[in-house]
Amino acid sequence: MRSLRHSIIRAGLEALYFSGAHHVLRSIFGGAGTIFMLHHVRPARGDAFQPNRHLEVTPEFLRVTLTHIRDLDVDLVSLDEAHRRLSTGDLSRRFVCFTFDDGYRDNRDHALPIMREFDAPFTVYVAGDFASGHGRLWWIALERVIAGSDVIAAPIGGSEAHIDASTAEAKRAAFARLHEWLRGMPTDIEVANAMSDLCRRHKVDEAAIAPELCMPWPELAEFARDPLVTIGAHTMSHCNLAHATAENAEREMAMSRSIIQSKLGLPADHLAYPYGDRNAAAARDFAIAAKAGFKTAVTTRPGMIFAENAEHLMALPRLSLNGNYQDERLLSVLTSGAATAVWNGFRRVDAA
Ligand SMILES: [Zn+2]
Repeated sequence: MRSLRHSIIRAGLEALYFSGAHHVLRSIFGGAGTIFMLHHVRPARGDAFQPNRHLEVTPEFLRVTLTHIRDLDVDLVSLDEAHRRLSTGDLSRRFVCFTFDDGYRDNRDHALPIMREFDAPFTVYVAGDFASGHGRLWWIALERVIAGSDVIAAPIGGSEAHIDASTAEAKRAAFARLHEWLRGMPTDIEVANAMSDLCRRHKVDEAAIAPELCMPWPELAEFARDPLVTIGAHTMSHCNLAHATAENAEREMAMSRSIIQSKLGLPADHLAYPYGDRNAAAARDFAIAAKAGFKTAVTTRPGMIFAENAEHLMALPRLSLNGNYQDERLLSVLTSGAATAVWNGFRRVDAA
């Protein structure tokens, strides 16, 4: 299903590209600006099974993207500057922001040198527990469980399922099924327990993942000294806020802000909701983020930024730089806003 959906999206992007419709739509839907969303930036791997590949782009593709953006004659700005422009109505020039979620070490090792080439400011959203070395990156744990086993045993629907994972194709199907099973659980504690159980059965060291992939506080302190870097908040436990009580959602947001302030001595005025789709962050969470005092908060809902978004600074859409579509030709479609306009049924603002 996953790859089918990807090929439909790709076909849609290519149809827009080849029809030239994005040139017509650009003036209408290009908007005031764009906030790009990235996760990992690192060299491509050759493995046939890479279920989280949508969360990574290569350094080369990041450079191609930045070159494309420079050619568009738009301003590459920090989130503070985007916030200033939106809140004062200073939208005479289009702007682009770059944001990276989760605080991966490859952001420093592979993205930072390229961002410096283009003098491009960017924000890295840090989950407090990841930086403290004890967070749970369950989607990566799941990839490792499936990568290392031919059969996955999991208690799905009250009985023990034995899922084939003997080929790359079977592994992709197993990942899709188990990912859906986990995302469907009512609380994050259940996800964590189910994942720990899978890791134990399949001998994956779940606790090693955050320290392996994420910058700890001392590295973040060094990284954050670069004038191009803004550190944003991403909750403490990388929880699905929609599954949290209002009290816990408030605590997750406020604590992730204050731990950045205390560990790094820096303000954390910008927030990214973990997962960030409409099943993970909605109106209640936008109100909590506003009350917590953030200047902006970003979702993973696809879209460009319009002047109207100034009224919805706690629900800003982003444009995913998705590792499955690392194709230079498609960038002009994405940055025209045509693709997200089509995805959003031509609504300009989606903040409900
Ligand atoms: Zn995240």
